[in-house]
Amino acid sequence: MSTITADKFLDFFIHFDPNNPNHRRAAYMLAGVIPDAAMRDSAEWVKTYRTANAQPLTAETVQWSEWDARVSEHFTVGEVFQFDDFRRQRVTAENKRRIVKLAARLDVLRKQFGPLGVTSWFRDPVTNARVGGVDDSYHLTGGAADVFPLQFNPLEFEQWCEQNWNGGVGRGIKAGRRFVHLDDGPKGVWDY
Ligand SMILES: [Zn+2]
Repeated sequence: MSTITADKFLDFFIHFDPNNPNHRRAAYMLAGVIPDAAMRDSAEWVKTYRTANAQPLTAETVQWSEWDARVSEHFTVGEVFQFDDFRRQRVTAENKRRIVKLAARLDVLRKQFGPLGVTSWFRDPVTNARVGGVDDSYHLTGGAADVFPLQFNPLEFEQWCEQNWNGGVGRGIKAGRRFVHLDDGPKGVWDY
């Protein structure tokens, strides 16, 4: 017997459509198997659910010193710096603002295509040169991320980005690489 992970369970809420009779029926079935203790008005999850929204993340509120801390709903500090302290120590306040903005835009893709892996995001000049990045790379500002879908066809994802991403799109998948380069620069498409 397999079980649904918390992440998959979250999909239920994300995709719930109150006008869909099957969704409503599923919700009632779920309510029927939830323990009484969890259905009380005083239950912890009810209190959490009703608590005012946390302040949206900004460059100032992100816990940059924690790898697991979020820079947006779905992306972490560790992903931004690839768990490399050398990179993290070289990020500026302006870089952080661009990182948080780009992360919010990547969240939209995450909701549509499922989990996204990140192979590179912010790069200081030394790291950028080492990995062969161009001198004016958007990665130097935190305004570019190389991503790939974990549960969606990468080429279709890349083609969707070509059409719809409002910024630069580097077609890595088409060139046989693992990732699509997305940045916050002018709209444009190029091949690796
Ligand atoms: Zn890139």
